[in-house]
Amino acid sequence: MKTISKLPNVGTTIFTVMSALAKQHNAINLSQGFPNYQSDQRLSDLVSKAMNSGYNQYAPMAGSLDLRLAVSNKYELLYQSTYHPEDEITITAGATQAIYTIISAFVRQDDEVIIFKPAYDCYQPAIEVNGGKAISVQLSAPSYKVNWQEVASKISSKTKMIIINSPHNPSGTIWSEDDMLQLQKITNNTNIIVLSDEVYEHIIFDKEEHQSVSLFKALKQRSFITASFGKTFHNTGWKIGYCCAPKALMQEFRKVHQFNVFSVHHPSQKGIADYMKDANTYLGLNLFFQKKRDLFLSLIKDSRFKFLPSKGTYFQVLDYSEITDQYDVDFAKRLTKDYKIASIPLSVFNDDNKDDKVLRFCFAKTDETILKATEILNKI
Ligand code: PMP
Ligand code: GLN
Repeated sequence: MKTISKLPNVGTTIFTVMSALAKQHNAINLSQGFPNYQSDQRLSDLVSKAMNSGYNQYAPMAGSLDLRLAVSNKYELLYQSTYHPEDEITITAGATQAIYTIISAFVRQDDEVIIFKPAYDCYQPAIEVNGGKAISVQLSAPSYKVNWQEVASKISSKTKMIIINSPHNPSGTIWSEDDMLQLQKITNNTNIIVLSDEVYEHIIFDKEEHQSVSLFKALKQRSFITASFGKTFHNTGWKIGYCCAPKALMQEFRKVHQFNVFSVHHPSQKGIADYMKDANTYLGLNLFFQKKRDLFLSLIKDSRFKFLPSKGTYFQVLDYSEITDQYDVDFAKRLTKDYKIASIPLSVFNDDNKDDKVLRFCFAKTDETILKATEILNKI
């Protein structure tokens, strides 16, 4: 039998490749983004309590109402922005499913979707499998600043959506208020939908403030926000996230959502809802990760890697151009095999594998692991 791939250029994700290589070579794994410590025992106890109290059948299609209320309260508290739990918030199987579902609910054959490169790797395949075309705006190390004139020049009558992501994976940069205002301006009087991937909203450093689309009135009207409890509560394996949008957009989202997952793990939703009653469970995250970033950077300050400190996410990009001019994928693999430390090469997220000689390191690790990793980096 012959099959014709809908995604002929897609292979296995770099996250799977590098984590497998790290395992094979017994290397410290700072590649795929996940913590190597346990999440709060109290959260696990609340999920167990939900299981033992009988929350073991299908959750409502849009998600547990308690959790949607908790999400709604968070937007009121942090951004003074209202999303109604009934019809403007849906709980998803991680941010990945929210992103896929948003794209498949709106993108048709030949529609264009603007994405900023380096781009998180689930955006483009989701666009293409739905018949759309990804239009890239390539950003460059080390600042990854957006040229808004270039973005404006790429908007056409076919532009259906713009996908943004701040704090940004993989660069660790953030967008300013001015960036958001520029986006608001160029989408004004259009039918463009904005998909704002805000999975790292609670991981932002140096007293910077997260510029959520929910803060910008006109932008909010055309936007979906996607988020991930896995990032916020240190349990990426639970795969619970959510999305918010104005009612008319959410209505279309749910038409697809009800048939691609219907609903997600019920006891986790109840447990997370109880846990979020205390806002400190997510408000403390900035400081927690800033300490880890600072520890990591202070320990490699005399190494041959150059860097601008990460402004958000739990990733730090390091420039290795003083060490070698080897292609970043090959260098990342060599570091894993020979030095026993795994990272993520950024070229795989760029147009034409543009190679800025930078690697991404995840610092969501115990201090002990950070110490061991930096000892290795200092020897390279
Ligand atoms: N977007 C970005 C930018 C991410 O880094 C990730 C995962 N780390 C996701 C989306 C997907 O989140 P989830 O694991 O909740 O599906
Ligand atoms: N988001 C994680 C990262 O950036 C990886 C998630 C995945 O493996 N799909 O490393």
